[in-house]
Amino acid sequence: MNKYKVISFYKYIEIQNPEGLANEQLNWCLKNGILGKVYLAKEGISGSVFGNDEAISKYKNHLRSFKIFEDIWFKETPTNQIAFKKMHVRVKDEIVNSGLKETKLENTAPKLTPEQLLRFYETGKDFVIVDARNWYESKIGKFKNAITPQITHFREWPKVVDSLEEYKNKTIVTYCTGGIRCEKASAYMLEQGFKDVYQVDGGIINYIQQFPDTYWEGGMFVFDDRKVIEPNTKEELKYIANCHFCNKPTSYFINCHNLDCDKIIVCCHECKAENEYCCSDECRLSSNKRKVFYE
Ligand SMILES: [Zn+2]
Ligand SMILES: [Zn+2]
Repeated sequence: MNKYKVISFYKYIEIQNPEGLANEQLNWCLKNGILGKVYLAKEGISGSVFGNDEAISKYKNHLRSFKIFEDIWFKETPTNQIAFKKMHVRVKDEIVNSGLKETKLENTAPKLTPEQLLRFYETGKDFVIVDARNWYESKIGKFKNAITPQITHFREWPKVVDSLEEYKNKTIVTYCTGGIRCEKASAYMLEQGFKDVYQVDGGIINYIQQFPDTYWEGGMFVFDDRKVIEPNTKEELKYIANCHFCNKPTSYFINCHNLDCDKIIVCCHECKAENEYCCSDECRLSSNKRKVFYE
């Protein structure tokens, strides 16, 4: 039995007073055993929060009690791990930093359900699937045949779209972790003249819950202390990345503990310990190392 749940959610909706709501959220969560991150902006809410079953179900009811959030979709993942140790609530300009200020949400692409995406694959449909996440996310997991842009921040999306010019008249499917980035990513593509764009509804989280061991390959990067979710049980679909040191298949990452380096590398647990969480001997001998050892 899993003891805890992580829920992630977002909704684009006009919020009059994000600061007020931020205070409310922080106080409520601290009182009710909820940890995680919630972002608020005038354009909406996004979050990923963690707690035991009871706390999570209370939180869902609480958030849905606000008229503007009564239909919000919570994507749930049961877990035994501690996903967050703190509660952060922040007011931002955008609920996901995109830099796509001119992009209109009403232009967002139609949603493709996990079943529909599965059918695209199974019927051999001619389509181009594009990962809207960062390189270190797609490095350890992606949809079969996906284009995986080597970007380090979603703000670089326009550059990715430029590079896809040759597919302008093809069927395009975009995906991200929970769907939030694709709302704007797909809108931007349509605005740039792409003809037939879809986004995976509810993102990877939604797909792997329904169809593990199919067309998702490897692990899914998450922005909390779990770091990675491994949805597949078929040996050949478990890992797509290899340890930087020993080449063993793994989905784990470290940030090099030399703060002057901070490079992200794929690294198995054994090599992580052996190399003191560093990417090289040089970094291991640095005097400017992180004091805390993360799992
Ligand atoms: Zn290794
Ligand atoms: Zn290093």
